[in-house]
Amino acid sequence: MGANDPAPRAIVSVRDASKLYASSNGELNWAMTDVNLDIGEGEFVCAIGPSGCGKTTLLNAIAGFVGPTTGSVTAGGQPVTGPGADRGVVFQEYALFPWLNARRNVEFGLKMLGLGAAERRARAEELLALMGLSHAARRYPFELSGGMRQRVAVARALATRPKVLLMDEPFAAIDALTRASLQRELLRLWRELGLSVFFITHNIEEAVFLAQRVVVMSPHPGRIREIVEVDLPYPRERADPAFGAAYARIAAAFAQSEEVAS
Ligand code: ADP
Ligand code: MG
Repeated sequence: MGANDPAPRAIVSVRDASKLYASSNGELNWAMTDVNLDIGEGEFVCAIGPSGCGKTTLLNAIAGFVGPTTGSVTAGGQPVTGPGADRGVVFQEYALFPWLNARRNVEFGLKMLGLGAAERRARAEELLALMGLSHAARRYPFELSGGMRQRVAVARALATRPKVLLMDEPFAAIDALTRASLQRELLRLWRELGLSVFFITHNIEEAVFLAQRVVVMSPHPGRIREIVEVDLPYPRERADPAFGAAYARIAAAFAQSEEVAS
């Protein structure tokens, strides 16, 4: 997306969203305040910022797991009132069911869509193939490496054929080499499936490698500090000086947001 291209149509719109949490001792905490963000159709957006700046709260509001205290969230033009098949979610911790094999994990959400057994199975097999995991369809989570488990989690998130993929630090617990290949695979899926992706990370390099726009957040209260456009072609090269320049811009915004944190 070049600077002069028209903005894509928003598939997710967050308007003036704030979230207030009250802890059991009565303390009030604004987890996010005045968040305004559009995620365009087919756009890849990363969010970055220190711990506690409201990244997960924002993602959960888009996913429909929490309702904002003020403001609104829409997906596909409809108000978000709860989780939906149009939005797939991948968490940091492998949220796989340990008692189900890989294929059954991928099938899990499909019953609710009213698909029959044969159709559920076919779709799960198709997605496992897409993730290069056909050979592991009958393995249980404990028999899979961390990288393979996250591939299963991505397959499961894609099973309902969502337009939007929401990912909360999905590769944070994965070793560096596996992480790099997961990043490349994710970019391939993004392209092939025409997804819109909202991806949270702690890692500036990951954000520059993946995103068209990087949302830098700061805490106390959690809010958007700056949105940095990364106007570089894909596939991106970490050795490219333009990559380093984008990294430096985001690192500067991130450092400011950490000053706020301390
Ligand atoms: P991040 O993902 O950026 O680390 P979170 O969105 O998880 O940030 O949290 C933002 C703030 O809201 C933090 O101060 C956190 O302690 C608080 N918070 C998050 N979830 C809850 C909750 N369910 N109840 C109370 N406070 C919460
Ligand atoms: Mg978080």
